[in-house]
Amino acid sequence: MTGDGPPSSRPLRPPVRREPLLHVSGRGRTMVLTFDDGPDPRYTPTILKTLRKYDVRAMFFVCGGMADANKDLLAEMADDGHIVGNHTWTHPLLTQLRRPQIRSEIERTCDVIEDAYGERPLWFRAPYGAWNRATFQIGADLGMEPVAWTVDSRDWTTPGTGAIVHRVEHGAAPGVIVLSHDAGGDRSQSVRALRDYLPQLLDSGYHLTVPRRRYV
Ligand SMILES: [Zn+2]
Repeated sequence: MTGDGPPSSRPLRPPVRREPLLHVSGRGRTMVLTFDDGPDPRYTPTILKTLRKYDVRAMFFVCGGMADANKDLLAEMADDGHIVGNHTWTHPLLTQLRRPQIRSEIERTCDVIEDAYGERPLWFRAPYGAWNRATFQIGADLGMEPVAWTVDSRDWTTPGTGAIVHRVEHGAAPGVIVLSHDAGGDRSQSVRALRDYLPQLLDSGYHLTVPRRRYV
């Protein structure tokens, strides 16, 4: 020991970011698929089945309330090697809440993820992409990195399966993070679109992966 490093007893925490992660670095044509607001037993199982069929890992930014009601789906995500991130308990606009409320929204969700998924989350995404200083600080204090997206499939507007497929394929590029939803409304278009664009992305040479902390 030279004595110039941090004390070994100090917990390792990511630095407080002022901007969320937008791109993932990696070799080649790497992209990340993310699914928000779930899990929903009507749609998430089919999405998991499609990902399993193509041996692809994705990120699921779950809401604590949904996770608490569907713990079996978080266990399934863990079994399949997917990454579960924190998307708050009730999906509020965090910028309108006070710090104790923000912390409660996020921390309770960390707890239910740990219980159902087996690990505390390393990643956090603010509902509506609405970040502020308190949100970044509290997320970092709870051991998470903020993650945004670069391609919004806009599936939440239910524009039709073809429109979702087009947006994902048109937006495809190395390092892209795709936003989709597996809950929060009728997501049958999102489910069908994945079955269409996923094999096409793979055929185009894209590697669908999930970020680890060391890739940031
Ligand atoms: Zn959301």
